[in-house]
Amino acid sequence: MITQWDSMQSHGVHVDLKELLASPGFRAVADSVRDYAIFLLDANGVVLTWNTGAQHIKGYAPREIIGQSFTRFYTEQDRAAGRPHVLLAEAARNGRVEEEGWRVRSDGSCFWADVVISRLIGPDGSVVGFMKVTRDLTDRRRAEEALRQSEERLRLMVDAVTDYAIFMLDRQGRVASWNPGAQRLNGYSAREIIGEHFSRFYPPEHARESRPERELEIATTIGRFEEDAWRVRKDGSRFWASVVLTPVRNAEGTLLGFAKVTRDLTARKRVAEEMVERARQQEAISELGLFALRTPELALVMERAVRTVQEILHVEDVRVLRGDDKPPPGARSVPIHGPERLSDFGALSVSPSRPLAANDFSFLQAVANVIAAAVARAGLEEQVRVAERERIAERGRATEAQEALQQRDEFISVAAHELRTPLTALQLKLQSLERTSNPDRRIERLGGAVRQTERLSRLIERLLDVSRIAQGRVEMALERFDLSALVRQVADDFRDPSLESRAPLQLDVPERVEGCWDRLRLEQVLVNLLSNAVKYGAGKPIVVSLEADDHKVRLKVADRGIGIAPDDVDRIFGRFQRAAPIRNYGGLGLGLYITRYIVEAHRGSIAVESELEHGSTFVVELPRWSIKPVDEHETAARAQA
Ligand code: ADP
Repeated sequence: MITQWDSMQSHGVHVDLKELLASPGFRAVADSVRDYAIFLLDANGVVLTWNTGAQHIKGYAPREIIGQSFTRFYTEQDRAAGRPHVLLAEAARNGRVEEEGWRVRSDGSCFWADVVISRLIGPDGSVVGFMKVTRDLTDRRRAEEALRQSEERLRLMVDAVTDYAIFMLDRQGRVASWNPGAQRLNGYSAREIIGEHFSRFYPPEHARESRPERELEIATTIGRFEEDAWRVRKDGSRFWASVVLTPVRNAEGTLLGFAKVTRDLTARKRVAEEMVERARQQEAISELGLFALRTPELALVMERAVRTVQEILHVEDVRVLRGDDKPPPGARSVPIHGPERLSDFGALSVSPSRPLAANDFSFLQAVANVIAAAVARAGLEEQVRVAERERIAERGRATEAQEALQQRDEFISVAAHELRTPLTALQLKLQSLERTSNPDRRIERLGGAVRQTERLSRLIERLLDVSRIAQGRVEMALERFDLSALVRQVADDFRDPSLESRAPLQLDVPERVEGCWDRLRLEQVLVNLLSNAVKYGAGKPIVVSLEADDHKVRLKVADRGIGIAPDDVDRIFGRFQRAAPIRNYGGLGLGLYITRYIVEAHRGSIAVESELEHGSTFVVELPRWSIKPVDEHETAARAQA
């Protein structure tokens, strides 16, 4: 029906308008069509007929509109522009005009109309009127507009997105569209990349394995492919991408291509990795700190610090540099701060194979700070130790000084006592000598007086010896002589019946023991040891023995007297050292001191074995041929120690 009308219209229709209007067929047809407004206009555009469709679309009842000008269907602007009559004129000229445009309903609302105006030619060949067929396309128009708008919005959106690469691939995987996000992410401009295969976004090794193709296949079969993986930018750099690949199909389900959305997660991945790394570093630092707290040895702390850096930063060459040490070429270093940061102890240097990140440096600095703290602590501890040592030494010196003072006082009183005894005896002897006329008695008393002067001079000699030893002025006069003979001679002197305290003396001495010694000094040694044995021997037998081999001699003086307490054994060889109670035993505490000095000057040694109340045995060992005299100063220094 419509087609028939259309073909009629297209050529301009020859009709008798009145006949047409009167024909029941036209009315029936026109009225049966609801979706089309079909009506006739006279040559001036006055509405002559009105069908149901026209009423439905335009809202006028037939009596409202028939006889009215068709211009009222047009918008204000169209009317002002004379558009309605332009269209009529065109239709009159060309037979037909068609257009889409806004039209106005009776209520003033607008609708989008598809309008066809066809001229009607009268029998005389003149234009008698027009048939107008109008279709309301508002719904279609609205749908189209909505679609257009949504497409536009989508395009704008896709263009606005810069964080995502959003683009289309054709079925073969060639890039079909490109958004600014894609340009930003991948580095290509649209011109460079459209038409290129998307495999160039993959690392070469993945492209070679045909991963791109496989991923398209998966997307096609499953409807989606998604992965986080490395992708490559135009400049060759890699980024960690989150990729979603979706197939795009038309309404019939035919595959048109693929939509690909890619996001750069490199930063996020790096942040995540850095967080893990930082946690690892922090843990290592706290472990190192704890270790440093527990470990006083600086070297161990340093060793551990170096190992920590090696493990955490994966570097081989880690060094703790002191003061002005230069780091190896290419190394990175952080300072090991001194206290108050006035000056640095040194530096911690590493030679990394990759560039270090900011948090690697803060990690290094933290390790350096642990070292700094340990160094500072070690320094403090050393100071404390030095101070403590000094305090002890100071205290020692104070006690020593005090003891020396005490010893000196004691020595003076003992020396006075010692000297007064023979002196008093001498005076008594001399006084009685004056009163004695009997020549025998006089000789006897004179002999006694002489012995007291000898005793006096021995005492004085000892005191002088001590000061000579202290000044290192003792000279050894070595000569070859028979020590057995000397022992026998000294022992004989002790057997002198005129001596005050006497003890049975037993000799165990070889016939002859020759050697090279200072005779007078060895006599002094024998006298000292024998007089002590007599003095502390409690009147019990004394044994003097001498043994010899090719190289040395051993002299023993053994008594069975009061003995020496173990604590005193070493001490008694010192200057002014006495062990026996002063009330019962006099003495300057010098005999053994001088004895030891003489023995050592001969490169020999002296020792004592003793038990309290059971006696003492002094043992002197001497080389037989001390040809080479000992350095005086060395011996003096040793004697003073
Ligand atoms: P002193 O003039 O006091 O005897 P010495 O240097 O000869 O000085 O001896 C030091 C100390 O060694 C003596 O005071 C004494 O206590 C102890 N001593 C020395 N010889 C003996 C000994 N044979 N028996 C016990 N004690 C001895």
